[in-house]
Amino acid sequence: MTGHGTLIYEGKAKKMFATDRPDRVVQYFKDDATAFNAQKRGTILEKGIVNNKVSERLFRLLEAGGVPTHFLERLSDREMLTKRVTIIPLEVVVRNIVAGSLAKRLGLKEGDAIEPPLVEFYYKNDALGDPLMTEDHIRLLKLAEPTRVKEVRELALRVNRILAPFFKARGLMLVDFKLEFGLHEGRVLLADEISPDTCRLWDQKTGESMDKDRFRKDLGRIEEAYQEVLRRVCGE
Ligand code: C5P
Repeated sequence: MTGHGTLIYEGKAKKMFATDRPDRVVQYFKDDATAFNAQKRGTILEKGIVNNKVSERLFRLLEAGGVPTHFLERLSDREMLTKRVTIIPLEVVVRNIVAGSLAKRLGLKEGDAIEPPLVEFYYKNDALGDPLMTEDHIRLLKLAEPTRVKEVRELALRVNRILAPFFKARGLMLVDFKLEFGLHEGRVLLADEISPDTCRLWDQKTGESMDKDRFRKDLGRIEEAYQEVLRRVCGE
C-alpha cells in the first residue's frame, strides 16, 4: 500500500487516502506549510518526512504509556497507516510555558512557566478562524458530550506528562502543543500528527525555536530546525 487508494481528503499539510479496508486510511505528509489560518503559505523541504517519522516515534511512545492512538504502521517516508476515525472538531492545546496566542490574548510574558499545565479547546472551523471554546460552548454546539470532553482533557494531560520529559531528555522544552482526537468503534483515539508543525519546542540551551514558529516568524534555518528535531527524537 503506497497511498494509491482514492484520495479521501486533502488538508493543508496532509492528504488522506482510502485503503482496501474501510476502517483504515493512509496519511500522506506534504511539505506544504501554512500559518495564520492559511494567510501565509510556503514549503518546508522534507517537512513531510520529518513529521511522519517524528509522529511515528511519539505515537509509539504514547501507546506504550497507555494513550490509545490511531497509529498502526509507518509505510514509507511520507506515509502512515492509521485507523480511520471520525474527528472530534476540537483542537486541544496543552501549554507548559507562555507563548503564541496565549501571550497575546492575556498579555502574559512569553517564556513564563505555567503550573499546572493549561488545557484549551479551539473549534476546528477555518471559516470562524478556529475560535477558543469553553466547555459550555462545546455543549451548545454539540461538538462532543461533556464526558468525552473530560476524557479528552485527561488524555491530553497524560500526553503532556509523557512527552515533556521525553523532549527534555533530548534538550528540548515542550512549550505547548495541539492534539486532535477521533472516535473509532466508540473509542476515543489520539489522531492527526504530533510534530514540529503542531508543537512549540525550544532548545534548552539557546532558547531557540525548533518548530513552525521559524516559518511563522520568518526566523530562517527552518529546514535545519526540523532536521535537528528529527535527529534528537528519532536518532537520525
Ligand atoms: O497559536 P497558539 O499559541 O494558540 O498555538 C498553540 C500550539 O498549538 C502551538 O504549538 C501551535 O503550533 C499549535 N497549533 C496547531 N494548529 C493550529 C493552532 C495551533 O498545531 N491550528
